[in-house]
Amino acid sequence: MNPFLSDWTTAFNLPPFDQIKDSDFAPAFDAAFDQSRAAITAIAGDPAKPDFANTVEALERSDALMDKVAGVFFNLTGANSNPALEALQRDLSPKFAELHSETMMNADLFARVDTLFKQRTTLGLTDEQNRVLTLYHRMFLRAGAALRGDDRTRLSAVSKRLAILGTAFTQNLLADEREWFMLLGDDELDGLPDFLRDAAAEAAKERGEKGYAITLSRSLIVPFLQFSTRRDLREKAYVAWGARGENGGKTDNRSIVTETLALRQERARLLGYASFADFKLEPEMAKTPSAVRDLLMAVWQPAKAQADRDAAVLTGMMQDEGVNGDLEPWDWRHYAAKRRVAEHDLDEAELKPYFQLDRMIDAAFDCATRLFGVTFRPLDVPLYHSDARAWEVLKNGKHQAVFVGDYFARPSKRSGAWCSRFRGQSRLDGDVRPITVNVCNFAKAPEGQPSLLTFDDAHTLFHEFGHALHSMLSDVTYQMIEGTSVARDFVELPSQLFEHWLTVPEVLQKFATHSVTGKTIPTDLLGRLLAARNFDQGFSTVEYTASALVDLDFHAGPAPTDPMQRQAEILSGLGMPAAIHMRHATPHFAHVFSGDGYSSGYYSYMWSEVMDADAFEAFEEAGDPFDKDLAARLERHIYSAGGSREADALYTAFRGRLPGVEALLRGRGFTESA
Ligand SMILES: [Zn+2]
Repeated sequence: MNPFLSDWTTAFNLPPFDQIKDSDFAPAFDAAFDQSRAAITAIAGDPAKPDFANTVEALERSDALMDKVAGVFFNLTGANSNPALEALQRDLSPKFAELHSETMMNADLFARVDTLFKQRTTLGLTDEQNRVLTLYHRMFLRAGAALRGDDRTRLSAVSKRLAILGTAFTQNLLADEREWFMLLGDDELDGLPDFLRDAAAEAAKERGEKGYAITLSRSLIVPFLQFSTRRDLREKAYVAWGARGENGGKTDNRSIVTETLALRQERARLLGYASFADFKLEPEMAKTPSAVRDLLMAVWQPAKAQADRDAAVLTGMMQDEGVNGDLEPWDWRHYAAKRRVAEHDLDEAELKPYFQLDRMIDAAFDCATRLFGVTFRPLDVPLYHSDARAWEVLKNGKHQAVFVGDYFARPSKRSGAWCSRFRGQSRLDGDVRPITVNVCNFAKAPEGQPSLLTFDDAHTLFHEFGHALHSMLSDVTYQMIEGTSVARDFVELPSQLFEHWLTVPEVLQKFATHSVTGKTIPTDLLGRLLAARNFDQGFSTVEYTASALVDLDFHAGPAPTDPMQRQAEILSGLGMPAAIHMRHATPHFAHVFSGDGYSSGYYSYMWSEVMDADAFEAFEEAGDPFDKDLAARLERHIYSAGGSREADALYTAFRGRLPGVEALLRGRGFTESA
């Protein structure tokens, strides 16, 4: 019996993970493709005149089985993959592209949507229905539904090929990340604090090795680059980290990038846009490439000026230690960490015992309770991996959502941190509540010890939980606009905004407790931690903004024939500091090349930061980080509103106006240097 093909009788309709086998997916997907196709054929061929119910609502229902199967499958391929699932994923990607293109190119179906769209003011639709209809219509147009003849055929072939390239890019990256690790002997641990030795020992054990292993997981390699006093080993690790996707051989992503960029440009031209960036940015809050470039360049100059000043300081520190030559990218984090100790008397090893994973989860939950009145109850249910845990989320005593937290790095998980869902929220057919998951790559403590986070990790936890709240508080009728289904440059607002509550002193005073003594973080250490918040922002802004500018440039004009050459030209044109690299160099820039998601959209984090800085200032102005009225407005217009209105309308409804870039520059401490 295939569990996907029967009704689930589990608590909260959770996927029955203890019954799902890898071999269930292929037949379940076959059935789901059949059902989706049959539903589309029925809607398109409906003899009745098109109306909202028989066309748009029917479309909303057409992927019911697919949502059920894909919801589980794509969470597993990200968080707990294996060769069988990866092989199926490769098979599936062209099939998805084909179904999508078939649906979008169905002339009868588009005619129905188009008819409704033209009559929309006379149909007596609610605002939400009007919005959903408009989005469907736009989706069809942007997919090429209005194209005819050869253009139509070519667009379909291009889309199919792009999907295959995106999957190949991801899998190559995963292979490079999984394969590389650096074993360290007892004599190669110079400078490494206990938590890092423990995590490295755990990583070695997981790989069946003795001693200590540094892998390419951020939670190992970043602290290694900070603490290791062995410059030769830092260089070796850093070079491997930077070479992901660029190692030659079967997993090299460079030719995939070239082909992807050319095909994207062709796709945009077929649809009548000057460039792929023009096409991609049209539905976003930013709207145009020039608006994006203006924002990025307004931040670039003050950030680079700050980074140049910092590089001079770090070079001096290095030379004082008797190391000659230039400051290299594998030196920056190391000397920055030392400088942080010197200037802020703050080091990660002193801080780390105060950031216990479980206490930080409690902190995130508590902030959500105080802001939005949701509470959390641990659930004992089967999940897809023993490290994953689940909670029931309640609001006013009523079931609101199920939250799954999957926090630890492991070889079967891709790198990074993300929020996803097994099921979205909707009210079209009953009150369907979300099952939302946060996946992170924190280092797991040895058996019996509490897992400790860096302060950055704690930020990541709050960030992803902000996305989760956006998903779990969703209160709309149609899945099309539920939860995080909003403009790409708006989707990071709820997540980045939520990070602000981590740095509220009363939150840390309550939840930052020492893992051994149980004592609260001392006031003076907390003060130093918060004072150091803007530390090294020149570095992080430069590495981010350079990536965003390369992404924009790649897509805003003719496709480069040699993207690596073009990347070098862009960076040299910007005056990229020599000791800083792009946060994501092109061959491993998964945001941009794993799929279309963030292509010419990597700027979105900063665009959202403009808003999150401005939005949190509202709470500061109110003098209470948990101000009831503001929190209620925030929930109503942002966290529960999904994509029910245009992003600028949602933001204005909360704040009464649109934000400017000033709060962001203030937030990063660039005001003096600007
Ligand atoms: Zn995010």
